[in-house]
Amino acid sequence: MKGVMRPVNIKINENFKKMKQSYLFSEIGKRVRMFSQQHPDAKIIRLGIGDVTLPLTASVIEAMRKAVEEMGEKSTFRGYAPDFGYDFLRKAISDNYARMSVDIPADEIYVSDGAKSDVGNIVDILGSNEVLIPDPVYPVYLDSNIMSGNHVTFISANAQNGFLPLPDENIPKRGYVIYLCSPNNPTGAVYNREQLKVWVDFALETGSLIIFDSAYEAYIKGDYPHSIYEIEGARECAVEICSFSKTAGFTGTRCAWSVVPANLEASGVRLKSLWERRQTTKYNGVPYVIQRAAEAALSEKGHAECLELVDYYMANAAVIAELLTRKGIWFTGGVSSPYIWLKCPNGMSSWDFFDYLLNEVQVVGTPGEGFGEEGKSYFRLTSFGSREDTEEAVRRLERIL
Ligand code: PLP
Repeated sequence: MKGVMRPVNIKINENFKKMKQSYLFSEIGKRVRMFSQQHPDAKIIRLGIGDVTLPLTASVIEAMRKAVEEMGEKSTFRGYAPDFGYDFLRKAISDNYARMSVDIPADEIYVSDGAKSDVGNIVDILGSNEVLIPDPVYPVYLDSNIMSGNHVTFISANAQNGFLPLPDENIPKRGYVIYLCSPNNPTGAVYNREQLKVWVDFALETGSLIIFDSAYEAYIKGDYPHSIYEIEGARECAVEICSFSKTAGFTGTRCAWSVVPANLEASGVRLKSLWERRQTTKYNGVPYVIQRAAEAALSEKGHAECLELVDYYMANAAVIAELLTRKGIWFTGGVSSPYIWLKCPNGMSSWDFFDYLLNEVQVVGTPGEGFGEEGKSYFRLTSFGSREDTEEAVRRLERIL
């Protein structure tokens, strides 16, 4: 029996009402379902997903199996994991930074169940700051700040700045929390050293904090920074958040980390202490089995296997990029990123282009509008599908672009 709606007499976080309904993926799902009902025999190819499709690698599976066996033996069973991660994984992540010639001590590394969680949770330890967020970008930065009632200013990423905005004279010089994502989701654009140095210098000059999301660093080709700590001065102004999701195929396995340098301080308190306090209070650690799997992904052999996954996806990206180049369609990404961000042809809006591709050739992508106002005439394609699907999608797109 359906109950009568009876409101409880409490206050809610009113900031939630200020958030736009996250209708992007539900709207995509709705339009695809409707099309399928009308055309039950149509084979739809999804080039919109931000999820990986290849299985976990051999090293990861072997480490997981071994860890599962340990969990089944009284002598090697483990209960709660340490709040900040097992020492073996924190050390493996630190060693991984050493591969990039970056010195990050293990005790500045905090293991978690996802970069999304860390990006959302870091707001807990920050006050009500002015926040700078590129537009378009991964929507979690904006939504988590709206939930906390923070004032957000957008920095426009557009074709003129190659979707790599830099601080300019329009941004008054004061302390901000600045979100940067490189390689970027959704645009695939990557900051080079000089550009990232401009941001670090701006942060140092204004007393700002950069939250640097490097979830796609494994996709970088060429001499671009994989970590913000490759830039001088970043230890004094930046937190870095990274993930095993897109590198090692851990989207369903869940493991990531944040770096909070020991010398990062605000209002007379070390941010590291605040983050530790937050994590010990609200979080109980990543399972042992998963942390062993993550450790394996960073081993010499595991790392090489992960690069094979990346290469597979990037070969898909090349197939899509080749078509767009040949058709004279403007795009960024697809070289150091699994995402391709293209300008919708013939002045179409991103939703019109979505409908056009779905109706004409049954290829599904992601309308740029879902990532911000600046995305209204752009479209995101991803290379996370299978080679066969990607090639078939390109054959179909060839006919109509
Ligand atoms: N950061 C960016 C830029 C992303 O695109 C994503 C996932 O799509 C995440 C973080 C989330 O990563 P995780 O799976 O570790 O939560």
